[in-house]
Parts: sequence; structure tokens; C-alpha cells
Amino acid sequence: MTVHNFNAGPSILPKEVLEQASEALVNFNNSGLSILEIGHRTPLFQNIMDEAVSLARELMNLDSHHEVLFLHGGATTQFMQVPYNLLDETKTAAYIDNGVWGSKAVKEARLFGNVEVVASSKDKDHTYIPKDFSVPADAAYLHYTTNNTIEGTQWNTIPETDVPLIADMSSDILSRQMNFNRFALIYAGAQKNMGAAGVNLVVVNKNILGKVSRKIPTIMDYRIHIENGSMLNTPPVFAIYVSMLTLRWLKKMGGVAGIEKINNEKASLLYEAIERLPMFKAKVAEEDRSKMNIVFVAANPDIEKDFLEVCKKENMYGVKGHRLVGGFRVSLYNALPLSSVKAFTALMEDFSSRYN
Ligand code: PMP
Repeated sequence: MTVHNFNAGPSILPKEVLEQASEALVNFNNSGLSILEIGHRTPLFQNIMDEAVSLARELMNLDSHHEVLFLHGGATTQFMQVPYNLLDETKTAAYIDNGVWGSKAVKEARLFGNVEVVASSKDKDHTYIPKDFSVPADAAYLHYTTNNTIEGTQWNTIPETDVPLIADMSSDILSRQMNFNRFALIYAGAQKNMGAAGVNLVVVNKNILGKVSRKIPTIMDYRIHIENGSMLNTPPVFAIYVSMLTLRWLKKMGGVAGIEKINNEKASLLYEAIERLPMFKAKVAEEDRSKMNIVFVAANPDIEKDFLEVCKKENMYGVKGHRLVGGFRVSLYNALPLSSVKAFTALMEDFSSRYN
């Protein structure tokens, strides 16, 4: 049975990663032990952590100022950990609010210092990326979300600013080439493009740390995680292992440049079908459309239920839009093969022709 996994997250992983991970659950590297049964301070696990860090460095082409961490907690923890480490109570951080996740990041930052929302797309239900804004020169940092998972918008450029730049890349990490060194801090929950839920990738320029006056609890302090090589406490061992395997797979696919080519092809194919078939409509401003989460609606909302039924019958998972947005959302993360997008667009065509 062929299934097509368009889930928004947790989402599709490469088949070979799932096979290797399931083998490791029973017998990791012929040790006779499960990956879940080995100590995190053993050479067996240290090798996994070292390879995960070195693959992330290589795939992102990071310079020596940037450190790679694998931390517990999901991206939501980073909404707090970023201001905890970087925003003094009397200082102001600039945030761009271009969706649900950006708004949540703003809410958490306000617990730590002042927040100025320098740009927002709320006036049009976050269906575009705000372009005209200025950032106060003395802002502690500028925070934005590179890809808006729920609304289906994505930044095509890196915002221009002289203050430290911080990005939530949870839903487009390693999907396209970028100057990752341009960022003071990047974070991403692994469960979309780079592994299993339960771990965050954090890339941080160590020069920005140690400047706030508050006391930071040990587990929240990036500097202590750096000193401890992401092993201050027991790390999410299995999730890190799956990330390492996924990064290995990505390298084999030609790295970020290789996957970007396929991602462009997948997104073009689907947007082209949405444009061509009068039955469907994209909601997002054309120049800001996400290549990861394609959000669209039926021109006639009455057919939405029928289309979702057909998708279900054809083993196409995750097509229903987020409850806050409605309509459809088809996620095209790195591991989703082009063949799934071809099957989906064929289904759209067939459904359209039968309804007309
Ligand atoms: N940021 C973005 C852009 C996301 O898509 C998500 C999850 N979908 C989050 C943050 C929250 O991630 P988590 O559930 O891992 O805390």
C-alpha cells in the first residue's frame, strides 16, 4: 500500500532513516543493546552526538563563532530560552509577528523584558510577509519566523538589520540554502525537516551570550550547554540519533543545495496545479508562498469535505488545514518524495474533472 504523508509535524522521515532507527531499537551497531539502553556518556552515544554536530556544521557551513546544540523541549521552550539569555529586563527586543508561532514567541518574550513588534501581518490574517519596517538601533535582537507553518508564508530574504538576528526555523530548517552564519541564533524543533520530536537544534553565535544581568537557571543557560557539549543532563538520546541519521541522509541527497532543488520542484508542481484548477485557490500572497506548507482552499467550501474524503481513501495523510485557518494544508518537507506531489496533483485533477 502506497501512503503519502503530507503531515505538518511530526511528519515524514526518509524510509532508510526509519529502517535504521528501528534496527537500532533492538540492536544498536551490533552491540546487542538497544539505543534506548546505552548510557549517554558512553563512546557509543558520544559518537552519535559528535556526528550529529559535525553534520549540522557541515550542512549549514557554519563558522567557528557558531556552536551547535541539541536541546530538550521543542521550539516552544526556545520562545522562553531566547529572551532568558538575551533580553535584559530594561531592554527592548524587536519581534516580527507574522503568524501564530511568532505571536507565541512575542508573548513569552514579554515575560522577560520589553518587546516592540516592529512588523505584523495580522491585518490580513497573516497571509503575507511584512516588508516595510525598521528596527530600533538599540534593540537587543530581532526575532522572526522564517516559515509560517500554519499560514503557509515564508521569507524569501533575510531581514536587513544591524542588531543580532534570531530565527525560528522549525518548519524550514535545512530546506534551502541560506547564509546561516548571518544569524546570532537559530532554533528549530527537529520533528519536521530533521528528525523526531523531542529535540531542538540550536545554533548560536557564542559572542552574543553572557551579556544579560539576570541569573539564568543552569538548564536554561546556553553557555553551560555549550561547555557540556549538549550533555549537561541526559539528552533525548533517541531523538538525537534520528536527527543524526536524517542529517546523514540529507548529506547523501546533495546537502541543502541538493534538497532545495527537489523542494522547488515539488512546490512549483503543486502551486501550478492550484493556479490551473479553478476549483482550488491559494490564500497567500504569491511572492510570499511557502515551499514547505502549501495552504489553499476550495473555491466552493462545500466540496472541502468531499475532497478530504477522497484524499483519505487514497491514503493521503495530513491534507486538512490547521483548525485556525481551515481549508487544506499540504506539507512538502525534505523527506517527502516528488512522486507523492505528483500523486496528489493527479488526484486534484481527477477530482476537479469529476466535479465539473
Ligand atoms: N515554531 C514553528 C514555526 C512551528 O511550526 C512549531 C510547531 N509546529 C513551533 C514553533 C512549536 O514547536 P514545538 O511544538 O516543538 O514546541
